[in-house]
Amino acid sequence: MEKTLVLIKPDAFGKGHAGAILKLYEDAGFKIVAAKVMQMTEPLAAKHYVEHIGRPYYPALVEFMTSAPLMALVLGGDGVIKKVRELNGATNPAEAADGTVRKLFAEDKTKNAVHASDSPESAAREIPIFFSAAEMFD
Ligand code: ADP
Ligand code: MG
Repeated sequence: MEKTLVLIKPDAFGKGHAGAILKLYEDAGFKIVAAKVMQMTEPLAAKHYVEHIGRPYYPALVEFMTSAPLMALVLGGDGVIKKVRELNGATNPAEAADGTVRKLFAEDKTKNAVHASDSPESAAREIPIFFSAAEMFD
């Protein structure tokens, strides 16, 4: 089964939007393969966002992602990687299409409610950062 890593980021999770966001993914036909509530540490953030180290927004991104608990998920299903990126909407919520998670729940370009893997290669790299094989049920 194709799988993707999703994070319901501290802004959306803290405001109690996890259930509404999960409903969008489940209504689209995807399966929750793994889920946990956790708080990111700085080393974990650096591992997950390795390609963003050195960007001007990186310090604020790490501060935000480590500031409070989030929900990490693995979702599974046909075409899940591309489809969840579409359901999430554009990185900048001001540019996100109506009905997308970011249009509905995101605050700004950094506090943008959700993460999802952007390719099969990213999913394969990101999933094991958050979940062991024993924590996944597909
Ligand atoms: P996406 O999450 O849509 O895949 P990116 O991989 O480009 O977006 O960026 C990772 C995260 O870094 C974004 O979700 C957002 O939280 C933050 N970010 C990216 N670009 C910016 C920016 N220009 N200003 C502020 N934060 C940003
Ligand atoms: Mg990305």
